[in-house]
Amino acid sequence: MIQLIRGFKDILPGEAELWQEIERVSRDLFESFGFKEIRIPVMEKTELFARSIGEHTDIVEKEMYTFPDRKGDLITLRPEATASIVRSYVQHKMYAADPVRKFYTIGPMFRRERPQKGRYRQFYQINAEVIGVDAPYIDAQLIFLLATLLERLKVTDVAAHINSLGCPECRPAFREALTALLDGKKERLCEDCARRSGTNPLRVLDCKVPACREAMADAPSLLEYLCEGCKAHFDSVQRSLNRLGVPFVIDKKLVRGLDYYTRTTFEIQTGALGAQSAVAGGGRYDGLIKMLDGPDTPAIGFAIGLDRLAEIVGLRQADLEKKPRLFIAALGDACAEKAFDWICRLGLAGVHAEMDMADRSLKSQMKQADRCGADLVLILGESELASGSAVLRNMRTKEQAAVVIDDQTAARLLAHIQ
Ligand code: ATP
Ligand code: MG
Repeated sequence: MIQLIRGFKDILPGEAELWQEIERVSRDLFESFGFKEIRIPVMEKTELFARSIGEHTDIVEKEMYTFPDRKGDLITLRPEATASIVRSYVQHKMYAADPVRKFYTIGPMFRRERPQKGRYRQFYQINAEVIGVDAPYIDAQLIFLLATLLERLKVTDVAAHINSLGCPECRPAFREALTALLDGKKERLCEDCARRSGTNPLRVLDCKVPACREAMADAPSLLEYLCEGCKAHFDSVQRSLNRLGVPFVIDKKLVRGLDYYTRTTFEIQTGALGAQSAVAGGGRYDGLIKMLDGPDTPAIGFAIGLDRLAEIVGLRQADLEKKPRLFIAALGDACAEKAFDWICRLGLAGVHAEMDMADRSLKSQMKQADRCGADLVLILGESELASGSAVLRNMRTKEQAAVVIDDQTAARLLAHIQ
């Protein structure tokens, strides 16, 4: 038997309904706030991710699925969506007509990480990105959208963590202070951190290894290094969140794994997922569009981990399951032909009806009706056909109704159902 690839998974019916509901609620919310859907390819030139995400990040160093295609060009299965969205914005010169664009996209991402609960090699994200707005209002609006979405999906036990990563003006001083601190602690850090303390010292701040956490306990906070502009921006985000009633905690250890982040950065964390505590993450990336050969345009976005979200939503699968409204127990060919016509007509009218197609006994058809959970059952045998009337039984209320059998029966059934 061929099994799926390690770290990949099937979303089976039964779970997929939950995913659909999450996607539906997300789309509704995004559309209400003026976001437009964008669909980008799952593969891009490797160069796009290497350049935008940054060489000294976990993603680029060890997690990307990169292959030479048949001509030898390096291509990569997308590990995230932002780089592709920006590529598309620049490539199609979307800034020319209107530099302000709000996008959302939902789809699979690929990272070759160690598979475990909440961590897959193909996983799904819901992304939202706003390009062209500098104002801190938009930072607050995105965090507000995340909080609202989680509330609508009945997720509890979540907290919004926020921080500011500064800008190219103020971050270097912080980086220097951090590097100086790390120089004295290299031997206490994990292998990854010891290596990246020189190239990506900010990353050490959010390493989950206990020894690194201890070593970084007295690390300086970027918030103490913010320039006037970054400080005013961050203060304004907080004021807006307070006015909107969105609770948050300032988390000076929150840094993001990707190089392109500036200023506001945020993460939604939960206690419900064990070690994989981040449900969503995002932040500003004011430098990325220029870095990808577009105009110097600010931007901000977030990504929600759909797999992790599906694990913690408070929705009940039973409420989302779709069952047929009607089961027709038809006996014999002549009855089955009629039943078949009716279920097709009902389906066209948007009503799911089922029948037995294996010529089973009445008893086993009634069992089948019960198993599929249909509320209504119509029994159609030779005598019903001859008398021109059949009984429609409501399995919950036990009520019965007579239905005339003629060329209008499908419409009659529809009237009973709606
Ligand atoms: P983590 O710290 O958990 O590795 P990350 O910082 O790498 O997360 P992002 O790149 O910010 O994650 O992606 C946003 C969200 O996508 C995460 O908050 C998480 O919910 C989800 N996510 C990231 N990697 C995976 C994965 N391998 N499997 C499932 N979900 C993931
Ligand atoms: Mg990661």
